[in-house]
Amino acid sequence: LAGRMMDFPLTLTHFLERARTFFGRNEIVSRLPDKTLVRSTYGDFYRRTAKLAGALHRLGVRPGDRVATLSWNHQRHLEVYLGAPAMGAVVHTLNLRLHPNELGYIANHAEDKVVVVDRSLLPLWRKFADQVRSVRHVIVVPDCPAQGEPTSTEIDYEELIAPEKDEYPWPSLDERSAAMICYTSGTTGNPKGVVYSHRSTVLHTLVVCNADTLGVREADAVLPVVPMFHAAAWGLPYAAVMAGSKIVFPGPHLDPPSLLDLIAAEKVTIAAGVPTIWLGILQLLDQHPGKWDLSAIRSTVIGGSAAPPALIDGFKSRHGIDVTHAWGMTETNPVGTLARVKHALSDRDEATKLGCKASQGYAVPFVEQRHVGEDGTILPWDGETMGELEVRGPWVASSYFGGEGPDRFTTDGWFKTGDVVTIDREGYLRITDRSKDVIKSGGEWISSVALENALMSHPAVLEAAVFAARHPKWTERPLAAIVLKEGKAATRDELNAHIESKFAKFWLPDDYVFMAQIPRTSTGKFLKTKLRELYGDHLEK
Ligand code: ADP
Repeated sequence: LAGRMMDFPLTLTHFLERARTFFGRNEIVSRLPDKTLVRSTYGDFYRRTAKLAGALHRLGVRPGDRVATLSWNHQRHLEVYLGAPAMGAVVHTLNLRLHPNELGYIANHAEDKVVVVDRSLLPLWRKFADQVRSVRHVIVVPDCPAQGEPTSTEIDYEELIAPEKDEYPWPSLDERSAAMICYTSGTTGNPKGVVYSHRSTVLHTLVVCNADTLGVREADAVLPVVPMFHAAAWGLPYAAVMAGSKIVFPGPHLDPPSLLDLIAAEKVTIAAGVPTIWLGILQLLDQHPGKWDLSAIRSTVIGGSAAPPALIDGFKSRHGIDVTHAWGMTETNPVGTLARVKHALSDRDEATKLGCKASQGYAVPFVEQRHVGEDGTILPWDGETMGELEVRGPWVASSYFGGEGPDRFTTDGWFKTGDVVTIDREGYLRITDRSKDVIKSGGEWISSVALENALMSHPAVLEAAVFAARHPKWTERPLAAIVLKEGKAATRDELNAHIESKFAKFWLPDDYVFMAQIPRTSTGKFLKTKLRELYGDHLEK
């Protein structure tokens, strides 16, 4: 028997209309490069987005065309996030931290037709503009005063939208059509494009707003510290627009004091970013307890790489702030799993509960998880057996743009994440490594993430990245790169003594290298390939 309900399309257009209809007065705040705050409302945002759609149409943008952004997090970026997909085009977020050659490759691969660039980022754009053959128009966001004359293809964003109408005849769209393209970082081979559909993004948004997920509500003030070019800022901009929450955009100011000022002044309730951001914030809060009023905060979302237990515990025990640890990938739109202590475990001891909160959690509704051995066998959920995580669900990629990397998709419909995990009886999964970072010492696997977490619980350690160094006898041995907290000291023996009770002796790092900053990827993760390049032969010397 067929169901008899309406087949209402799941498109982003609905988010836009809804924001205008119900939340017209709710605020959107953006910080500019000169640190001034620009205040606006959803009502204004809607009108400007309609004008942008009209302008894009006038420029010749047609359904399926790619409209790229090279932008920090701010309101105009949000206008492209909604306006381009709602008029049938596809937003493509370019990662401004990549090398110009990589950006050139990606923009060409995506065949971007229009690029929206922050004026403060024009010098970067001009470094690879010549490489991008498909681009017809460059729309410049006036986020800072102009320097010099624009080139012939460059148009000012405000001048472009000014003559357009406040309304746009939004087309009816197929919910399966593309809304956004995000590229994975190219740590293994060339970056690959992941094409989100309207449907995948809408469903992802509904689940992200779920109370046991990120729980974004209308009364929230959401601060996406995670850049909008990093996996759609983890879906938070869409979640905020659907819920009607106030949004606070940090612009380029991602240093701890600037973020804390913004959180306090704008009464932010949910802020999201990678662990390095939060490690810096925690250090500053510890140095100046009580300096910032953070009483509005109800959740800090941490993901992108493993949030160390000491970070989660430090925020809660010293500052009363809850951390929500989430796992995801560009290929999963991106939220896949999230760590909450189940009600049935809520009376367990604090260490067990911290163990749950610091795990990568279990799959959110409609995502399914399993882990498999090297021969493809499905492994038991015993909390010990390590295998590669595979996921499936309505917002998990089914292939890459251009059909690259077919080996990442199994014949029975799962996506191979490349993450090595254990899964316990309750379903909590723990990432022990990305498969390319696993340390293979004399045939045994050593988890760099477990060692990093233990090292980061030492009071003198700000950051620890453990990686494989070549070894004449054991092939590879763990080496730890350490950043100490300001004014603190620790020796190799002290660090080993701090963690030795937690691990088999052969897991302990053979040596420690102390540095001022650990090299990072374009999305703020430890760049272990660089560490291996710099120190790979450290133990052979
Ligand atoms: P890339 O790191 O390649 O730039 P992604 O942001 O898509 O691109 O990275 C996804 C990867 O990040 C995952 O496969 C996983 O290795 C890592 N990751 C994401 N969230 C977490 C987390 N909470 N804990 C540990 N690793 C994580």
